Amino acid sequence: MNYLDYLAKDLELLKMEGRFRPITVWESGSDSWMKLNGRRLLQMSSNNYLGLTNHPKLKEAAMKAIEEYGVGSGSVRTITGTFHIHDELERELAEFKGTEAALVFQSGFTTNQGVLSSILGPDDVVISDELNHASIIDGIKLTKASRSIFAHKDMDQLEKALKDSQSHRTRVIATDGVFSMDGDIAPLPDIVNLAEKYDAIVYVDDAHASGVLGKNGKGSTDHFSLHGRVHIQIGTLSKAIGCVGGYAAGAQVLKEHLIHKARPFLFSTSPTPSVAAACLAAISILQESSDLIAKLWDNANGFRTELKRLGFDTGASETPIIPIIIGDPAKTMRFSDRLQQEGVFAQGIVYPTVAMDKGRVRLIVTARHTKEDLSFALDCLQKVGREFGLI
Ligand SMILES: *Cc1c(COP(=O)(O)O)cnc(C)c1O
Repeated sequence: MNYLDYLAKDLELLKMEGRFRPITVWESGSDSWMKLNGRRLLQMSSNNYLGLTNHPKLKEAAMKAIEEYGVGSGSVRTITGTFHIHDELERELAEFKGTEAALVFQSGFTTNQGVLSSILGPDDVVISDELNHASIIDGIKLTKASRSIFAHKDMDQLEKALKDSQSHRTRVIATDGVFSMDGDIAPLPDIVNLAEKYDAIVYVDDAHASGVLGKNGKGSTDHFSLHGRVHIQIGTLSKAIGCVGGYAAGAQVLKEHLIHKARPFLFSTSPTPSVAAACLAAISILQESSDLIAKLWDNANGFRTELKRLGFDTGASETPIIPIIIGDPAKTMRFSDRLQQEGVFAQGIVYPTVAMDKGRVRLIVTARHTKEDLSFALDCLQKVGREFGLI
């Protein structure tokens, strides 16, 4: 057999398990209604929480930056790829997050990889929630640090791990701020209290919390009034901010360390000037007004209440991420396909991303959805939910 035969065999296995999915190729940009195979579908699966991907101010900022700087940055950050616009974005992000400094990476994924692999050495331990994002898990894998996993949000297990690891140099507690599959919020005040009791570092990944939780979308640390007590805040510029990229916010010393050690920062070309400019425009929109965030929460809370009233199981959701738990993977994917026939796109998420009996369609409500959009979605969900005996 040659190597392609081995790859094909892997794919056969996926097909047998019903997990082989062709990629969906859209015919229009990210928005609340998107075109697929010539049809308009209501989009309920994007991370474009505030609809900023096509906000006129972001587009204008990006186009202006292209005129001024061109389309690419030409180098990694540490050689010739840092412009004023990157520096300004980092200053704005630090102010936004209430930290001394911030450092921008090419994505949230590479931020976790770069930061965790830089700050953790063989004498350290990282204590991680079992439902943390893949990029945290991969970041941890790049280190020689000891690792300890605690059951989702289980503070007794976290405390035990802290007690059992007192001989280590640095202990880092890593958690998502908002968990991406269930839409629940990390118990950050409890985590911070335990960290202070046992002298550990708190590392929170706010990919789904920045632009969503806290005053003006400042994230989970602000939401729980924990300023100064969370050591490292990771954010993405790819979700609510509407562009692409990631950042770490924390102490100036952390930033300087990362500039010298974080490999994606050192060895991969910097974000394009237009992306940096659009991100700056997004931050300024968030700082000027909390209208979009108020709309987001009004939409999300109203929609979740209606789903529950209809009898759907929305799991632990307390944010705009609202799963409808279905269970069986094949049934989940059929449910998702039926919704699409009715005009609603809601991605099915099944094993191994979630447990075998916890297949779900994951709905993400955005500020861009109108009341009419959401009641259309509810009508379709009610119809298909009855067909499937879910309600
Ligand atoms: C989406 C996500 C990331 C990755 O962010 P990108 O900017 O898309 O690379 C990292 N962490 C969490 C928790 C996420 O949900």
